[in-house]
Amino acid sequence: MKLSLNSVTCIGCGLCSDICGETFGMKDGKAILKKKVCEDNGREKEAIISCPTNAISVSK
Ligand code: SF4
Repeated sequence: MKLSLNSVTCIGCGLCSDICGETFGMKDGKAILKKKVCEDNGREKEAIISCPTNAISVSK
């Protein structure tokens, strides 16, 4: 699955990088993607669900 991140709606809470630091990082107060694809059942899914502003999305 392909990951994408909306840097406008991201509020920089850091939750995604806390949950899944191998895929999400923080830079200048916003989340960044360390990789652009993830497994269907990876920890990325928990990060996506936990994001308070739904700034992370996935597509096939
Ligand atoms: Fe941004 Fe969402 Fe990550 Fe928080 S969990 S840093 S709002 S992408």
